[in-house]
Amino acid sequence: MNDICISCFGRLPDDSPRTGCEACEYSVHTWLRELPRHWVLLQDMLRPDTGPARRGGIGRAHAPLPVRLEALDLLGPGQVVLLDDPHGDQTAGVPITPLLYGWACYLTADADVPVARRDTYGTIHTTRCEGPWIRGGAAVPGLCRWLDAYLHYAATRPWWDDLYEQLELLLHRVRRLTHTRPVTRAKDAPCPQCSAWSLVEKEDELHVTCTICPARLTPAEYDEHRAAVMPALSSLALRIAATQQTAA
Ligand SMILES: [Zn+2]
Ligand SMILES: [Zn+2]
Repeated sequence: MNDICISCFGRLPDDSPRTGCEACEYSVHTWLRELPRHWVLLQDMLRPDTGPARRGGIGRAHAPLPVRLEALDLLGPGQVVLLDDPHGDQTAGVPITPLLYGWACYLTADADVPVARRDTYGTIHTTRCEGPWIRGGAAVPGLCRWLDAYLHYAATRPWWDDLYEQLELLLHRVRRLTHTRPVTRAKDAPCPQCSAWSLVEKEDELHVTCTICPARLTPAEYDEHRAAVMPALSSLALRIAATQQTAA
């Protein structure tokens, strides 16, 4: 049994079968929902924007490549693991589809769930599962849905942090290229620890966090805190406004 999450080192509930905490599982869940949207954007970015032909421009020794390599690096086929790179000349990581498919295969092998199959005579055969069966095919949206459905299992395994780290890195690479970032919203109650108006809610994080101090609240804790402090603060603000009006 672990006491702490192997991804964020946050405390786990007593006697939890988890290796990854609920908050880290939530982040991976949002990344797997976000990836199919990037997949569409990256396909649009694959063709370089050549622009109109210009007279008198600087000549090139070679014709430009017909694709944008940084998008192809993410969309293309590839190895599940990185190749040996003794000269340090590889810059890209594993593309999206092989990375997700590799994890689906790894998860299937790790779970070692037997598969029951009925033959044409009605006899049931139980065999070892050879690989993931993904509804809609092994394209990025199907793979994301498949992995998402097994996250609760993955978050109990000793390799959870590898999955977490690799998907986090993948999202950084993809967001850099598509110029997107998770939405962050400011919350309208002060921080319970430092009293600053600095609480924010990030799209891919379960907790409401403070940008100044280490305060971290679940959505339910935030709602409770807001309900406790805001009525008094609102009436105080109204009294101050009324006093200022009278003085003017
Ligand atoms: Zn965690
Ligand atoms: Zn704070």
